[in-house]
Amino acid sequence: MKPSIHRPTKLIIDSSAISHNLMQVRDHLPAKTKAFAVVKANAYGHGVLEVARELAEEVDGFCVSNMDEALELRLAGFEHPILVLGVVPVQVIPQAVQASISLTVSSLEWLVLAGETGLDLEDLALHIKVDTGMGRLGFRDFSSIEQALSLMEEAGARFEGIFTHFATADQVDQTQFQGQLANFREILGQLAVLPPLVHASNSATSIWHGETVFNMVRLGNVLYGLNPSGRELNLPYPIQPALSLTSELVQVKQLSAGASVGYGETYHSPSEEWIGTVPIGYADGLTRSMQGFSVLVDGQPCEIVGRVSMDQITIRLPQSYPLGTLVTLIGQDGDQHITVQDWADYRQTINYEIVCLLSDRIPRYYQES
Ligand SMILES: *Cc1c(COP(=O)(O)O)cnc(C)c1O
Repeated sequence: MKPSIHRPTKLIIDSSAISHNLMQVRDHLPAKTKAFAVVKANAYGHGVLEVARELAEEVDGFCVSNMDEALELRLAGFEHPILVLGVVPVQVIPQAVQASISLTVSSLEWLVLAGETGLDLEDLALHIKVDTGMGRLGFRDFSSIEQALSLMEEAGARFEGIFTHFATADQVDQTQFQGQLANFREILGQLAVLPPLVHASNSATSIWHGETVFNMVRLGNVLYGLNPSGRELNLPYPIQPALSLTSELVQVKQLSAGASVGYGETYHSPSEEWIGTVPIGYADGLTRSMQGFSVLVDGQPCEIVGRVSMDQITIRLPQSYPLGTLVTLIGQDGDQHITVQDWADYRQTINYEIVCLLSDRIPRYYQES
C-alpha cells in the first residue's frame, strides 16, 4: 500500500531529534560502549530506512526483529552489523550467511533442527540469548548453553555474542531486575571464553542502569524521544520526541441542539455547536477508543465527539474555522502540547504501541530542526 499523499494527514519526523537522543544516551555511557539502534517495526513507526540513514554514521550496528527487516537494511546498502533479535526459521540461515546477518540462538532445539535440515552453519554469526527471567526467548540453564556452543563449534558457526533482556528495567522496584542481572553474570562467569559482544541493555536499562552495560547496548524507544517507563520514572537527561502528527479540517458545519454525530449516534450536541471533520481514523492508528480525547486547533484542545470512523474523526470546535485549518494530533500548537504519552495514557497502553500502530497510510515527512 502506498501512503496517501493527497490527504492533509501527515507524520513529520524530526531526524535531528533522533541523532540528538542517541548522543544524549551515549554521553552517559562508557565511551567504548557499542550502540546498536533497534529499528524493528519500521523503526517504531518512524520509517526504518530514513532513521537508519540518519544514524548510519553514529551507530555500530542495527537490531531488527526478523529476517525481512534485516534484509531490507542490507538491500538498501547498509553495511553495518545487523542482529536479528527474534527466532528465524532455520531455512533462512544460508541467506543470513550470505548477507552477513547475525542471528539469535535461543534454544538447543533450533540448532539441532538446523543440523537435521542439513544446513551449513559455516561462518554464521550467532548470539546466544539467555533467558534470565523474562520467560520468553532464550536458554535458561548453563548446560544447554554449553551444548549449544559445542554444536556451534562443530558446525563452524561464529560465537559472536551473548545477551539477555530485562523484564522490569523501566520500573521503580528493582527486585526482578537485580535477580536477572545476577543470573546473567553467573552464566557469563561459567563461560570459558566470552564472545566479542556481551549485551543486556535496552533503552530503559541504558538510561536507569548505566552500570549494567557490558560492551554493547540495544537502543530502541529512547532514540525516538519516548520515555520507556511511560510516566513511572523521570529521565535523568532531556530527550526530544521525534514525531508529530497533523492534519487539516476538511469540513466545518454548525449543528443544531440535539443533532447526532457519527455511527451509533453516540453523541448529541447539547446546544448549537460547530463540528469539524478531520481525515484520520482507526485505519491510521487513531483507534476507536480515542473517542473523547482531544486534538489541537488554533492552540485550543477540541474534543473528539462521536465515534472514530475508519477514515475520519469529528471534533467539537469553539467557533467556525476555514477549510484547511491546521489540526495537531501529536505535537505543539501555541502553548498546548499533545504527546504520544498522552495518547498512551488515554488508551491505557504504552507509548511503544501508539507509534507502532500509526499505519503506513500516513505519509512520513522528514525534517531537520
Ligand atoms: C525491542 C527490543 C529492544 C529495544 O527495546 P527498547 O525498550 O525500545 O529500547 C532491545 N532488546 C530486545 C531483545 C528487543 O526485543
